[in-house]
Amino acid sequence: MLKKEFKRKDVNRARNLITGKTGASTGIQIGYNTKQKDHKEGDVWTEGRKTWTIKNGIKQTISKLDKIKKEVFIPLCCPKCGTVMKKRLDKPNYNIHKKCFDCVIKHEHKLRISGEYDNYIKNLEAKNSLDIVDEMESYLLDAINTSNSGFVSEDGVVEKWVGGIDKIDLTKQVKEATKIRRTHIEKTLNDKEGTKRIN
Ligand SMILES: [Zn+2]
Repeated sequence: MLKKEFKRKDVNRARNLITGKTGASTGIQIGYNTKQKDHKEGDVWTEGRKTWTIKNGIKQTISKLDKIKKEVFIPLCCPKCGTVMKKRLDKPNYNIHKKCFDCVIKHEHKLRISGEYDNYIKNLEAKNSLDIVDEMESYLLDAINTSNSGFVSEDGVVEKWVGGIDKIDLTKQVKEATKIRRTHIEKTLNDKEGTKRIN
């Protein structure tokens, strides 16, 4: 089984790099960070034209959160076996496999016997990487378009972007970088399917 939550840490780390959480600040950012400090997990407030909240320690817009909510919505019963999904591992497994934990275990057991398990895991990992790339891309694009003239680096130092940020150029860079990554992952996926056919 793939622990999706664990890999999300990578995304969260990148997010914290951009949003920053320290008090170190200059100019306009003093007000911005002081204001941010007053908000705690679960708070909802309006800033600029957007509605914001803090979830898992990350400041994000409500619309983004709605999307995440839709993703984690799980039906009462497993679509495959009809059992009520109330076990602790049912939810994370449903999010990835769209079935209950027991069904995943049964499916993976079958794959182990038929020798397809390794391929299955590699495919899951590649798909998970694609999800992360998508998430990173939309987050970075969002950050570029909402950010002011500075950002807080990982060690908490506010760096100023001389002459402001070139949103068009940064957007282009993010799109190019994610495109390269996506192509690479998709190539890995296709290579595996090719190998499978030969076998
Ligand atoms: Zn089931």
